[in-house]
Amino acid sequence: MIILLFLIIHWYLSLFGQTFFLHRYGAHKMFTMNKFWEKYFYLFTWITQGSSYLNARAYAILHRMHHAYSDTEKDPHTPHFFKDAYTMMMHTRKIYNDVLNKRVVIEDKFDRNFPEYPGIDKIADNGYMRLLFALGYITFYIVFATQWWMFLFLPIHFFMGPIQGAIVNWSGHKYGYRNFNGSDKSKNSLFWDFFLLGELFQNNHHHAGSKPNFATKWFEFDPTYPIIWVFNKIGIIRLTR
Ligand SMILES: [Zn+2]
Ligand SMILES: [Zn+2]
Repeated sequence: MIILLFLIIHWYLSLFGQTFFLHRYGAHKMFTMNKFWEKYFYLFTWITQGSSYLNARAYAILHRMHHAYSDTEKDPHTPHFFKDAYTMMMHTRKIYNDVLNKRVVIEDKFDRNFPEYPGIDKIADNGYMRLLFALGYITFYIVFATQWWMFLFLPIHFFMGPIQGAIVNWSGHKYGYRNFNGSDKSKNSLFWDFFLLGELFQNNHHHAGSKPNFATKWFEFDPTYPIIWVFNKIGIIRLTR
């Protein structure tokens, strides 16, 4: 029970860091926040992603490329040129590392206006730090796991960020229905996306990239939006629209 709870909490906190901070704030600037909250959520994203930490600059650049070149060969992660999600993500990983280590020339319009904390990154992106997080997950399992098969969940903790990314990028551009007929192949995979906190509304999101609520029809529900709405009401963020 404790293991299942740990897995669920880790899944959703890490996912919230990705969808709320890296995606909707870092890449799209759907809202603003002051420096205190920006640093707070930067640290939050690091701690919750732990061993699979993603850098906000590289995330923003890759994601903006994904919107600009959606489902073409210049898209860093389209399912339409790969036989499975693993090969697609290996391709994405290579581009991510090239962008992160500044080995490629990036168009100016993609390479600006994202949160940057090199001091935090120096620690968060360090291999030993990632290992330390992984050892933390293992220790938790050694203390609380009651059955041997529970240890099979450990890789989900190790690679949490890329696993969630793979599901969204693969499913969100392959399976589901469309509300809007854009030039890309984006789909809405679920009506109520409790599983990936709204990220599976790819078709709605590609249609209106700066809209903070990924649900558009009356029967759709994006679980992250009510949180954004509350954060806006209490002054943690300010919606830009
Ligand atoms: Zn997409
Ligand atoms: Zn987006």
